[in-house]
Amino acid sequence: MAQTDVKGDRSLRPHEQRDPDLYVRIVERNKDGIIVSGAKVHTTQSIAANEIIFIPTRNMTEKDADYSVAFAIPANTRGLKLISRPMKGVESALKDPSFIMGRRNVENETLTILDNVFVPWERVFLAGEWQFAGAMAVMFPTYHRFTAISYRAAMADLMIGLAKLLAEANGVDNKSHIRRDIVNLIRYKETLRASAIAAAYEAQKDNNTGIVVPNIIMTNIGKLLANTEYTNAIQNLVDVAGGLAATVPTLQDFENPEIRGYLHKYLVGKDTPALERAKYFMLLKELLSSFGALFTTAMIHAEGSIEASYIELYRSYKYDGSKKLAKYAAGLEDTL
Ligand SMILES: Cc1cc2nc3c(=O)[nH]c(=O)nc-3n(C[C@H](O)[C@H](O)[C@H](O)COP(=O)(O)OP(=O)(O)OC[C@H]3O[C@@H](n4cnc5c(N)ncnc54)[C@H](O)[C@@H]3O)c2cc1C
Repeated sequence: MAQTDVKGDRSLRPHEQRDPDLYVRIVERNKDGIIVSGAKVHTTQSIAANEIIFIPTRNMTEKDADYSVAFAIPANTRGLKLISRPMKGVESALKDPSFIMGRRNVENETLTILDNVFVPWERVFLAGEWQFAGAMAVMFPTYHRFTAISYRAAMADLMIGLAKLLAEANGVDNKSHIRRDIVNLIRYKETLRASAIAAAYEAQKDNNTGIVVPNIIMTNIGKLLANTEYTNAIQNLVDVAGGLAATVPTLQDFENPEIRGYLHKYLVGKDTPALERAKYFMLLKELLSSFGALFTTAMIHAEGSIEASYIELYRSYKYDGSKKLAKYAAGLEDTL
């Protein structure tokens, strides 16, 4: 799904940008379809997709009508260019056998350029109806944030498992601050899981279309927590682990007959052989290094930035019940 425009000067609306292509726009309409120009960014897995869907990234005004455009096109459409980012996680894993995750978990984003692309009318969902751009821009992230709180809970589970194994390997799993670190990770994961369950449980059905939408408040509460608490979760994990998260020797060192004896002797933990303990550190190092930029940025920005969830929560929250309660408590209303 290609939603995020490159956006240029963020303080300006689409039609105010110095270069009109900084938001995807309609440059021409004819009887067969539209011609679009512009670029989206951070488009996940587009290189593996058959079809790419483009939707607006924000609400629009009448002057932005040409930017109120949504459509789906095959990935081999003439004029569509996908500029892929380097895949550091994979590259590091291929160079360094100590890194395992990068070989199994491949994700990629592109700068997704539309160089005067023709889209036939039957593939166009929005073409100038600026009043609907905002609703479309909000609808997709609600689903996307719902998937986010689900996969982020699973990722937090990995962090809990790794923290517990490291704590046991270091012989500190009964120490009070280590327990606190691990419980903080449990709290992080289970709050995400709870918000995902609540968002599904309180989903609302749109009677016009039959489409079911996750609860927008629960979804954004979970997503906001995932954004703002991720770096604390990393702090908890690294606090449990210790400095070998950065300085652990490599697997090649463990295979080197001249030095491996020292490693097996000196990197041993409590009841945990040195190589097993080192592999836990190697996993943590991979999470922090080759995947570090991706995971940290994704946890803060993917599925919408922190501010996007604040805006959504402030706008969508139903205040009536809370205001009535406050009025009742202030003696301004007789009944609840
Ligand atoms: C790993 C990853 C995968 C992603 N996958 C996809 C995808 O598949 N499809 C897709 O469409 N998008 C995807 N995104 C994009 C993601 O939704 C955006 O990164 C996010 O919305 C932030 O937009 P931005 O990166 O342009 O940052 P910016 O919008 O530049 O944000 C930077 C800061 O500026 C603030 N800011 C921006 N504009 C304003 C304003 N007008 N007023 C006040 N503050 C402002 C923001 O709140 C934020 O604090 C992905 C992002 C990542 C990191």
